[in-house]
Amino acid sequence: MRLDLLQSLATRVAERERAGLLRRARTLDAAHGVRITIDGRELLNFCSNDYLGLAQDPRIVRALQNAANECGVGSTSAHLVCGHRREHAQLEELLCEWTGRGAALLFSSGWLANLGAMQALLDRDSVCVQDKLNHASLLDAVQISGAALRRYPHNDVEAAARQLAGTPESSALLASDGVFSMDGDVAPLRELAALCRQEGAMLMVDDAHGLGVLGPHGAGSVDETGLSPNDVPVLMATLGKALGCMGAFVAGSRALIEGLTQFARTFVYTTAMPPALARAACEAVRITREEDWRREKLHVLIARFRQGAAQLGLPLMKSSTAIQPIVLGDAERALQASRVLEQNGFLVTAIRPPTVPAGKARLRVTLSAAHSEADVDRLLDALTLEATNEKSLGSGGHRR
Ligand SMILES: *Cc1c(COP(=O)(O)O)cnc(C)c1O
Repeated sequence: MRLDLLQSLATRVAERERAGLLRRARTLDAAHGVRITIDGRELLNFCSNDYLGLAQDPRIVRALQNAANECGVGSTSAHLVCGHRREHAQLEELLCEWTGRGAALLFSSGWLANLGAMQALLDRDSVCVQDKLNHASLLDAVQISGAALRRYPHNDVEAAARQLAGTPESSALLASDGVFSMDGDVAPLRELAALCRQEGAMLMVDDAHGLGVLGPHGAGSVDETGLSPNDVPVLMATLGKALGCMGAFVAGSRALIEGLTQFARTFVYTTAMPPALARAACEAVRITREEDWRREKLHVLIARFRQGAAQLGLPLMKSSTAIQPIVLGDAERALQASRVLEQNGFLVTAIRPPTVPAGKARLRVTLSAAHSEADVDRLLDALTLEATNEKSLGSGGHRR
């Protein structure tokens, strides 16, 4: 007899529940910047990706409203049919100017951008070499492309070199997060670029967490490293994190973008993002580039948090970005720490396996230019309790 699909799904859910790893969306009743309301209680939010505090910026909201008045809500079709509006074209132009590339192509989400780019570039005869901690969308994209996936230990350039050396006949793409989404550290982009040059492989950087935060005027981790578009021919980034909007893009040479336009199925066969959202994203890009004070403030807050957490003896990671994880090990312990923080007025979700490796469950603390120094100090006060636990558990081994 056939296995009942719903039954086997329910079995897996039950297993996850037994392991204490069940996931639940929290419903936010309201959000005013970093102050959010859940179940009638106000909490200070330390887990969003709104690193520059732009998601509710009145200028971006106004741009969205005005554009919606002019062009409505839905784009009504895919870009290649009749969904590509002036607003999309302007956003693509702005993004390629900002990132210093020949062309850019919009996608409705980062997940779709990674899937589309890899599926267009790779085939059964190619190999894709990836950092083990890359975002799930990059890893899944290779499966769909049919290429061979070779993973290397986190940021281990020598291991990446061995993977490439082992497949000298295959066309190769090496893909890495620019800033790792769960660890907050920056990839060794200079070394990876040198390796790719030497091996004739193409380098793709997913800068979902770097764009807006790193580099001169927020152009991202690639610009910060001083690498050229030749070094990183495929640059992908999202508009839903530091830019406070939604959507994503791939930027590169005209030839790359022409190829994606033809063959990226997640571009061809999906409805274009609302044109009003594209207009809002243009305003978000303008603000991100011009208002350096947001990045400066963010970096002051990052330094303040790291210094305070180090004084408490908390196990920080080697991150200089807005993502400041506190690895607690056990999933249950991370969950408990998150609950205690919530009781004290903070939302910091616990990140557990399989999102992170077993034994590496953590509080993924994220900072935003919308936080004040007093907000960071309050969080540090609340974390004092966790620091006490950390000492009593004697898990100094996490410390760096
Ligand atoms: C969030 C994220 C994505 C997916 O982007 P969405 O626009 O949310 O679909 C891709 N890559 C990385 C590294 C991310 O953090």
